[in-house]
Amino acid sequence: MNESPNPKKLTFRRFENGESMWNWDDLQEKIFTADKSHKCPTYIHRAPPCQAGCPSGHDIRGWLAIARGQDKAPDGRPWQAYAFDRMVEANPFPSVMGRVCPAPCEDGCNRNEVDDFVGINAVEQYVGDWAIDNGLALPKPEAETGKKVAVIGGGPAGLAAAGFLRRKGHAVTLFEAHDRLGGMMRFGIPGYRTPRDRLDAEIDRIIATGIEVRLNTRVGTDVSLETLEADFDAIFWALGAQKGRPLPVPGNDAEGCITGIEFLDAFNQGWVFSTAPRVVVVGGGDTSIDVASVARRLGHITKRAEKDRAGSETMGFEAHDVAGTMAREGVKATLTSLFPMAKMTAAEREREDALREGVDIRDSVMPLEVISEGGRVTGLRMCACDMKGMVPMPREGTEFVIECDMIVSAIGQMGDLAEGLARLDGGRGFIAVDGVYRVKGTEKHFAGGDIVKPHLLTTAIGHGRIASEVIDHFLDGEMPEKRPKIDVHHFRLLEELQQRHLEPEAYDHLQKRGTSEADFAIHNWDDRSSSHVVPHTDLFKGHFSYDPREHRAEIHVEAENVIGNFQERIQGLTEEQAQHEGKRCMSCGLCFECDACVIYCPQTAISRVPKKERAIGRYVETDYAKCVGCHICKDVCPTGFIQMGLGE
Ligand SMILES: Cc1cc2nc3c(=O)[nH]c(=O)nc-3n(C[C@H](O)[C@H](O)[C@H](O)COP(=O)(O)OP(=O)(O)OC[C@H]3O[C@@H](n4cnc5c(N)ncnc54)[C@H](O)[C@@H]3O)c2cc1C
Ligand code: SF4
Ligand code: SF4
Repeated sequence: MNESPNPKKLTFRRFENGESMWNWDDLQEKIFTADKSHKCPTYIHRAPPCQAGCPSGHDIRGWLAIARGQDKAPDGRPWQAYAFDRMVEANPFPSVMGRVCPAPCEDGCNRNEVDDFVGINAVEQYVGDWAIDNGLALPKPEAETGKKVAVIGGGPAGLAAAGFLRRKGHAVTLFEAHDRLGGMMRFGIPGYRTPRDRLDAEIDRIIATGIEVRLNTRVGTDVSLETLEADFDAIFWALGAQKGRPLPVPGNDAEGCITGIEFLDAFNQGWVFSTAPRVVVVGGGDTSIDVASVARRLGHITKRAEKDRAGSETMGFEAHDVAGTMAREGVKATLTSLFPMAKMTAAEREREDALREGVDIRDSVMPLEVISEGGRVTGLRMCACDMKGMVPMPREGTEFVIECDMIVSAIGQMGDLAEGLARLDGGRGFIAVDGVYRVKGTEKHFAGGDIVKPHLLTTAIGHGRIASEVIDHFLDGEMPEKRPKIDVHHFRLLEELQQRHLEPEAYDHLQKRGTSEADFAIHNWDDRSSSHVVPHTDLFKGHFSYDPREHRAEIHVEAENVIGNFQERIQGLTEEQAQHEGKRCMSCGLCFECDACVIYCPQTAISRVPKKERAIGRYVETDYAKCVGCHICKDVCPTGFIQMGLGE
């Protein structure tokens, strides 16, 4: 997430310093003398950079148009319900994503070139929460196909794939090794980031579409790969990366050296209630921040009543149930990163929170050796380093030791294909897939999510969505060989026209003289959204004024009150704020009905489509008999939707 406390300044300038008026000569030249060409406006739908940058494939521009009230539900439902329908076409977890997705969509948003990005992630959370609070369901399949698909792994990739496959009418069985679904959304990310009531609601909604779930079932040991092959028409592997990488330094087998995945899994299973007094976490990504922040929240138990002494102590921290009789002390949590602070992979906001909560972050340092006494960790020898690509280069004479009682390695993860699944190993514990997510060298095995390449929730969900489409085609006997370049959920004019009963007439296959009047065609519209992204240079940014972004309120947890504080920190937008963010969206690549081309065309060649024929993306039309090809309409189009084409 890219929440920054201060909105950026206006970055787009209409005037240079010192200019006080328009250069009228230039403008007159442009408008009245005008250009003449044989080109005329065409209406070109292209992908906005936000959408192209969302790995799950959200139709972001589409649901922001719904939020601002431009695109209204044909059946009069509330805008939030209509936006929710659009969101879950691509991603069934808007409430979770709106909280923890680092929002690559916002980095690419063209509004960054005007003032500040659109708060896409915050709108996603608002709609996701509204949908839960109002009990919205996912659509159920219209008909059963009779095909059976096994999905292995109940994390975001597996749940997304299961939901989309079910929606297409296939019978889906979901196998999960844990006793609950959610994968790293539950057993990795702590509850103050993905609140469990929100997570449960989004998972339950998927399962309610009619998915059979087998919990506590590890495929490979409890059920064999061969059994699955015999029982199912297709198999989707979404196992995640369940093994943390140990520190690659001498002494890493000392007692008190664990991985971040082990630590967080134990904590999220409810087995850990206290940690060692001095913890060093080696990493720099999301996992390391979560470990250090959880350690600060847990604190270290110093005194306890006899009745609380029932549990076992493992890995340097305690694993037993507690009553409220314990005295906790703050934990000294140090997080180390090979990279300088600004280049750490954890989101800026998470780093800021960790610092505020009292985590000591040491950047540009590398571990050299685990120091132990009697087999137990007592310190970590480190030195300053510079990164050469991905390789740390030690700086001579900078060695130091951080004294500690526990060292947590959070330097990456890998898959666990040991027992019964070795056949799937495509190298280094991961599954190798081709361009359409089919497991290399197999026929009916597909895979996605972290078991292919560890990344983000949104990426895992995107893999699940795309693989479900591929599997659907495969089950239909039409296996695709490749996918579109921009593989996301796009606006489809035909669907838009169909839902408003405005679709073109059926083609009569009779020869016509020209097609300008024919009702079976949509004139001068082209859909290039699967291959073209609209750059900000194609927008008329002078149309937009400075309009600061709505920020979500945040509860800041300070170092002195972090112990025992497991409350959520982000507070969602209000309806008005979410709608305002919808209005800030510049609708890159698709008409947003501003009338600029109608107003500025000196030939009055452009007019609005009659009201009863209007739809999103079909708002203006050109009288080509009047058009002189001056391209003013293109110049003033804020969205880059108009491109000069035709009579070249
Ligand atoms: C601590 C931590 C914090 C993170 N924070 C963020 C964040 O803030 N934002 C973000 O976008 N991403 C974050 N990530 C990354 C994100 O969680 C993962 O990319 C994502 O969960 C991967 O989804 P997945 O479905 O591929 O795998 P997982 O979520 O790992 O789910 C895989 C599931 O498969 C099950 N399974 C494994 N093997 C078997 C088997 N043989 N049989 C049956 N079931 C099996 C597992 O029990 C698990 O439930 C974080 C990851 C971690 C570890
Ligand atoms: S899932 Fe992430 S990348 Fe996609 S729209 Fe939401 S915040 Fe943006
Ligand atoms: S302005 Fe709107 S359509 Fe354009 S990139 Fe940003 S969110 Fe997407």
